[in-house]
Amino acid sequence: MISSPLIPVAGGYIDGHWCAADGGQTFPVINPATGDVLAQVARMGGDETLLAISAASRAMANTPTIEKRREWLENIASALVKNRDEIGRILCLEHGKPWREGKAEVDYAAGFFTYCAANIDHLKSRVLEERPRGCEWRVLYRPAGVVGLIVPWNFPIGMIAKKLSAALAAGCASIIKPASKTPLTMIALFALLEREVQLPAGWANLVPGSAGAIADALLTHPDVAVISFTGSTEVGKELIVKSAAQVKRVALELGGNAPYIVFADADMDKAVDQLMVNKFRGSGQTCVCANRILVERSIAAEFSKRLTIRVNALRLGNSLDDETDIGPLVDRAGYEKVRHHLTDAMAKGAQLVAGAVADALPPPLEKEWGGFFPPTVISGVNRTMACWNEETFGPLVPIAEFDDENDAMLKANDTEYGLASYIFTQNSARAQRFVEGLHFQHVAWNTGTGPAPEAPFGGMRQSGYGREGGIEGLFEFVDVKTSPVGI
Ligand code: NAP
Repeated sequence: MISSPLIPVAGGYIDGHWCAADGGQTFPVINPATGDVLAQVARMGGDETLLAISAASRAMANTPTIEKRREWLENIASALVKNRDEIGRILCLEHGKPWREGKAEVDYAAGFFTYCAANIDHLKSRVLEERPRGCEWRVLYRPAGVVGLIVPWNFPIGMIAKKLSAALAAGCASIIKPASKTPLTMIALFALLEREVQLPAGWANLVPGSAGAIADALLTHPDVAVISFTGSTEVGKELIVKSAAQVKRVALELGGNAPYIVFADADMDKAVDQLMVNKFRGSGQTCVCANRILVERSIAAEFSKRLTIRVNALRLGNSLDDETDIGPLVDRAGYEKVRHHLTDAMAKGAQLVAGAVADALPPPLEKEWGGFFPPTVISGVNRTMACWNEETFGPLVPIAEFDDENDAMLKANDTEYGLASYIFTQNSARAQRFVEGLHFQHVAWNTGTGPAPEAPFGGMRQSGYGREGGIEGLFEFVDVKTSPVGI
C-alpha cells in the first residue's frame, strides 16, 4: 500500500470534506509494473455526484473577483512546484511512467495555472470601439455554471491541470471524475488545494468511482453547464448523444492517429532524436505521439538503421528506477492491443526492423499487470493494417514509405482523427503547404513537440472539439454576453 503525506484519505472530496462512498464500496489502484495494490479508493456514484453538484452550486452563489481567482491559480502553481517530487512519485507508481517524466509532468501542469493567472485579464468585460445602432456595447465573460471535468489516466496531473486552471479562471466550480487507474495523483492535488491553497469549500469536488453513474448525474443535472472530457473517441461520442437532452455544452479531447512525415531533405538525426522523445514518452501511451511514421522512399533504409540503434538502447523498467527509459503498459488490455497491432501487421507483410523481439514476437500477457512491451520498429506498413487505422497507444513504431509530396499528404490525411501531426523538411514552402493541408489541429515542423500551456490545443474531426491552453482555452468555461446600452 502507498503511504504519502499527500494522501490523507483514499476517498473523494466534497464541499470541503474528505469522504468515503455512501455504501462504503472501494476499488483497487494497482502499480502496473508490479501488480501491487497501492490503495483501495472510494467507489462513488450518482448520489455523491449530486451532493458535489449542490456544493459547487452553493459555492458559485458568490463569484470571486478576478484578483481572488488569480491568487488561487498562482498558489496552485506554487504548491505543485513545491511538491513536485512527491506528486511525481505518486503519479509514477500508479501510471508506471519513468520518474523524470513524472516530475516533468508536474511542471507542465503547474504551467497551465501560471499561464491562466498571468492572462486572466482577458476575461474582464470590455467595451466595443464601434457604436453600432448608436449604442455603447459591452461584452461580458460570465462563468458558465458548474462544470464536470472527466479525465484519463495517461497524464494523471497534466490533463486535469488544463481543465481546472481554465475553470477556476472563468469562475466555475467543478466536479472532477479522475480515471480509475490513476486517482491517487488527483487525491494528492486535492490535499494541496485544501492545505496549501485553502480553496474555499465547493470550488473543486472530487468524485472517484463509477464512470457511467457519475457522468449520467452530471449530464442530467440542470446546474451543470459544461462537461469537459478527455479520453477515448468512443466515450466522447456517447457524451455527445447524452448531452443533447439538455443541450449541454461538451468539450471533447479525444483520440489521435498522428502522422510523422520525414522528407529526404530533412535533418535525419534531428528527426530520429525527436521521434525517440515523441514516441516513447509514457511508453507510447499519449494522444499526440507518432502513430504512423511516413518516410520518403530514398532515405527509408538509412532512417530505419539510425532509429534501430537508438531503439535497441532503450531500457525497460520500473518507474522509480533512474535507469528506466520505458515503463510498463497500463494494463493487459493495453498490452494486448499493441501485440495485436504488431502481429496483424506482420501477418499482412510488415517486416521487423528493431526491438527485443528479433526472433520471437511478445507472448500474450498471462496476468493483468506487468506488461512490459519491448519497443519495436516495423517497416512495410500500409493502410490495410490495424496499426495504420487505429491508435496503438504503445511502443510500436510502424514505418511506411512515400514517393512524393502528394503521396505523403494523402497518406498522412488517411484517418478520421485530427489531433497532432509532424513534418520534417528543410523546404519551408513545402512545410507551409503541409501546415495548411494536413487535417490536424497541431502541425509541428522540424520538432516532435506536443502541446504547451501558452498555445491552444485540441482536436479536429473525430479527435474532438474545444481548446485547452492559450488565450482560446481561457474562454472554454465562460458564457459570452453582450449588452448594448442606449446612452
Ligand atoms: P476512456 O476509457 O475514454 O476514459 C477516460 C475517462 O472517462 C476516465 O475517467 C473514465 O473513467 C471515464 N469514462 C469511462 N467510461 C465513461 C462513460 N461511459 N461516460 C463517461 N465517462 C466515462 O479513455 P482512457 O483509456 O482513460 O484514455 C485514453 C484515451 O484518451 C486515448 O484515446 C487518448 O488518445 C485519449 N486522450 C486524448 C487527449 C487529448 O488531448 N485529445 C489527451 C489524453 C488522452 P474510468 O477510468 O473509471 O473508466
